[in-house]
Amino acid sequence: MGSVTRAEIEQYLNQALAADRFKDYGPNGLQVQGKPEVRRIVSGVTASRALIEAAIADGADVILVHHGLFWRGQDGRLTGWLAERVRLLMRHDISLLAYHLPLDAHAEWGNNAQLGLQLGLAADARFGEQDLGFVGEGGGVALEALAERVERSLGRAPLVLPGDGRPLRRIAWCTGGAQGWFEAAIAAGADAYITGEVSEPQAHLARETGVAFLACGHHATERYGAPALAAHVAERFGLEHRFIDIENPA
Ligand SMILES: [Zn+2]
Repeated sequence: MGSVTRAEIEQYLNQALAADRFKDYGPNGLQVQGKPEVRRIVSGVTASRALIEAAIADGADVILVHHGLFWRGQDGRLTGWLAERVRLLMRHDISLLAYHLPLDAHAEWGNNAQLGLQLGLAADARFGEQDLGFVGEGGGVALEALAERVERSLGRAPLVLPGDGRPLRRIAWCTGGAQGWFEAAIAAGADAYITGEVSEPQAHLARETGVAFLACGHHATERYGAPALAAHVAERFGLEHRFIDIENPA
């Protein structure tokens, strides 16, 4: 196995994901700068302390995640749990690379594309803000069959809000906390919408529009993009890679 510079990886990823094209809730790309040479990448969903500790034990030079450390609305102080995560990274000279919306959107390695592969769904159109939502043929499947497919693929039963029982010709999906896009999915012609989380209004919308809603877990739906992307980078640059899944019921 070889090595490559952190800067080369960052540059490649920024370009491949078109990272500067997205309006996002936090900075995409390098969030914490570690050693210049990279041999081993650990990928994960969220830069939690558990993931950072596991990556340290694994000998990682870079951690690649979907949910980084810095978000709009933080006050900029490095205290408490955030200080602890940053301290662990800095002490072990590990770089943190985070891609949020650019990773949801990517047509091949993105969370939505990879969730589609897991569920046997192929997008032929996009919807919603910045074209992040995916929509494709459902083949007229019944809602119960789709829910079973989700449970089998993701290893957990979805929370299902039934619509009017129509066969699902068009199915839309967007990973993570995209419950607020239910109306956009309906407007895009969906008979069912798959996302990670659910809030109170979606139950009424499902009843009143006849479109089914499946909340399949924020973590469960966003588990596939980061490892797909990291595996691609590892292969391209001849690096070692391991995906570490930190269990999360939410
Ligand atoms: Zn997310």
